[in-house]
Amino acid sequence: MQKWVYTFGGGSAEGSAADRDLLGGKGANLAEMCNLGLPVPPGLTIVTTACSHFYDSGRVIPDALKDEVRAGIRRMERLTGRQFGRDSRPLLLSVRSGARASMPGMMDTVLNLGLTDETVQALGHDAGDARFAWDSYRRFIQMYGDVVMGLDHEVFEEILEDEKARLGHEQDTELSAVEWQHVVARYKETIEEELGEPFPQDPEVQLWGAIGAVFSSWMNARAVTYRHLHNIPAEWGTAVNVQAMVFGNLGNSSATGVAFTRNPSTGAKELYGEFLVNAQGEDVVAGIRTPQNLTEAARLAAGSDRPSLEKLMPDAFEAFQAICDRLESHYRDMQDLEFTIERGTLWMLQARSGKRTAKAALKIAVDMAGEGLISEGEAVSRIDPASLDQLLHPTIDPRARRDVIGSGLPASPGAATGEIVFTSEQAVHAQEEGRKVILVRIETSPEDIHGMHAAEGILTTRGGMTSHAAVVARGMGKPCVSGAGMLRVDLRNELLITQGVTLGKGDVITIDGSSGQVLKGAIPMLQPELSGDFGLIMAWADKTRRMKVRTNAETPADARAARSFGAEGIGLCRTEHMFFEGGRINVMREMILAEDEAGRRTALAKLLPMQRSDFVELFEIMHGLPVTIRLLDPPLHEFLPKTDEEIAEVALALAIDESVLRRRVETLHEFNPMLGHRGCRLAISYPEIAEMQARAIFEAACEAARLTGAAVEPEIMVPLVGLKSELDYVKARIEAVAKDVIAEAGVGIAYLVGTMIELPRAALRAHVIAESAEFFSFGTNDLTQTTFGISRDDAASFLSTYIQKGIVEQDPFVQIDFDGVGELIRIAAERGRRTRNNLKLGICGEHGGDPASIHFCEETGLDYVSCSPFRVPIARLAAAQAAYRNGG
Ligand code: ADP
Ligand code: MG
Ligand code: MG
Repeated sequence: MQKWVYTFGGGSAEGSAADRDLLGGKGANLAEMCNLGLPVPPGLTIVTTACSHFYDSGRVIPDALKDEVRAGIRRMERLTGRQFGRDSRPLLLSVRSGARASMPGMMDTVLNLGLTDETVQALGHDAGDARFAWDSYRRFIQMYGDVVMGLDHEVFEEILEDEKARLGHEQDTELSAVEWQHVVARYKETIEEELGEPFPQDPEVQLWGAIGAVFSSWMNARAVTYRHLHNIPAEWGTAVNVQAMVFGNLGNSSATGVAFTRNPSTGAKELYGEFLVNAQGEDVVAGIRTPQNLTEAARLAAGSDRPSLEKLMPDAFEAFQAICDRLESHYRDMQDLEFTIERGTLWMLQARSGKRTAKAALKIAVDMAGEGLISEGEAVSRIDPASLDQLLHPTIDPRARRDVIGSGLPASPGAATGEIVFTSEQAVHAQEEGRKVILVRIETSPEDIHGMHAAEGILTTRGGMTSHAAVVARGMGKPCVSGAGMLRVDLRNELLITQGVTLGKGDVITIDGSSGQVLKGAIPMLQPELSGDFGLIMAWADKTRRMKVRTNAETPADARAARSFGAEGIGLCRTEHMFFEGGRINVMREMILAEDEAGRRTALAKLLPMQRSDFVELFEIMHGLPVTIRLLDPPLHEFLPKTDEEIAEVALALAIDESVLRRRVETLHEFNPMLGHRGCRLAISYPEIAEMQARAIFEAACEAARLTGAAVEPEIMVPLVGLKSELDYVKARIEAVAKDVIAEAGVGIAYLVGTMIELPRAALRAHVIAESAEFFSFGTNDLTQTTFGISRDDAASFLSTYIQKGIVEQDPFVQIDFDGVGELIRIAAERGRRTRNNLKLGICGEHGGDPASIHFCEETGLDYVSCSPFRVPIARLAAAQAAYRNGG
């Protein structure tokens, strides 16, 4: 038989903290606190699965469930010596929601349930305090009227304000019993007028109403949005906790409060929290009255002249402090606690792991490891890798005033301030003059790379989280706000138009890539701190992890940044990025526009020394660490001008005829460039390009080895291979060049030739391709595109709809699609290693910096992950957590 209800209280409970899925977080921890013998008002928990049952049966509470609840209430009556619905010593109840994952304040709670026109008298009589009874009754009507009957809470607030004004009171606490009684009468009249039905006077009716309302609140708009944001499945449902009330509003020896066992913003080991005398829980949250500090230390620090709990109720405070210590060492984590003091007696109402800032998380984990509460491995596993983003970039000082003029997507974290510029040329120019700028564009293209480099941050009015601007900015570790649709860029007049203000070139703005906000003016920032607790956690992470962490980098600045973040080599150097820079793009264009191989070789000869010096610098920075260099990958037309204006400009610069240039641009046009003439297909059509690149790599390896004394073992990666014969053709060219260079230099060069696995065919034929490939690097951006048949650049227009409608749970370009793309990776890894057991396996797509995807890589047995420089610490931590979880 289905058991719907679990009871707790009186020193024991039917459930425990282990039953979180069934009892919800709140119910499981209430049970756990009872089992520990802590003072918790008795109650019962209706299991989460009852919630789906409630929805499946047309929002009706089954009779079997009602019977179990009634039995649970009998138990509460025995433990409290009170009776539900009776007019002597009435038992009042709180009805509280509580899902598996904490959703603070998202769902509804009803307090003081069971009060009626009769029981209110009995309650007053029993407590010897009529004012308290009527205060509780008005609170109940207010909450029940709002949560269960659906009357807007403002209706009640207006009545209360009106009464207070009439009576000349400032605070709720000043109302007398008779005055509250009058408020109650007005509340009830209003309910009847507005809803055409009276406030229910049968406590059982109230109870089923409240339980139904808590179940229903699982589907309220707030809760639905919260679940979306935090990936909480709708099927989980919420539990309902029905608990005997204790009263913080029973005069001046009563109080209610919330506390963290450590400071949730700094992590300092100090009791941190607030309380209110003569109040109930919702007063603290609602902020009607200003709460007081718990400890004397906090009161002094805040310079408050209102007494602390420590001073005011020393016995209850001491009991509370002991419970805090007990719970912290029991749960071995910082706790967020809710408590109430009724006439000097302390009651615990909730315990859960406290939410904290990234900085506090680090300090708490390090401190707890130091205190022997947790191991170093556990400390590492406690940190949310994604939260490190907060620490690796400058952030806006939380105390600063924000003058928000618009917002977009939080595309790349961190905050940046600078003058507005509208073109990449302006950005580069300003940087040369030592000015800091924000590059403001409608959207960016590959030609903006140098401008993005020069800017402090990037703001676009179009594009999503995987737009060019977003992806490149994240790669560079630059703050970026994308798709700020409420802002308009007027390029001709160089204006940024917002709803309130119009800004021009040179005006200063700040962007917050962590929140998506765009702000006017310069704002004070906090600088990242990478030593201390952060350094310690990273050192522990490095001891724990199995996989190596490399970086995707092609510029010396990125490579250096990545090294400082702990990268252990380069997993992807995209050589095409090197050709967009400065004067090179025109030499590149000369090569593309050449009539024949001889013409191409002439241009390539000019590119060779440039490319070689790039590699020398990268090899030097990486000082013997592995460097994977990918041969030219994008379709050639990406390097050519597009608009008439640009064509005219380039024709002039290259001293060729505009019509010749236009014709070449037209012949290179492709319908599906992503599936077109690119990757190894270029090297097969124009082997001289691959040969130039291979020569640059080998010559640079020799030179860097000479300069640093550390041997370089380059890994040359052939992109977009689907057939072994493709790889063989290109590999033969590379080997021939290697032979020449070795002969010329008179020294040996060790190198590997491998391929990206980014086509389903390559994954399936991995055992054959591995006969020639010495390593595989999973290019999961393209592998996701080609597996799904979804173009990443065009996905923005429908993927968000997919996510919204629950067709896919995750954006597969952010987190590896474990079932489909993941299956191909598993197949390729397994088949590849069957042929070549020392086959090196890595990942170099954007997923290489995504914690969930990194867990997948660990399970699949990859040797390394490679990600953008600023994600390297995140990847180090995530790789450690994956290894810790796998191996303990
Ligand atoms: P939330 O999940 O929004 O925190 P809770 O169910 O914890 O909602 O209830 C909010 C507040 O109501 C609690 O912090 C507490 O102050 C008060 N409360 C809940 N149950 C009781 C109870 N049995 N007795 C007294 N106060 C209670
Ligand atoms: Mg709570
Ligand atoms: Mg690719």
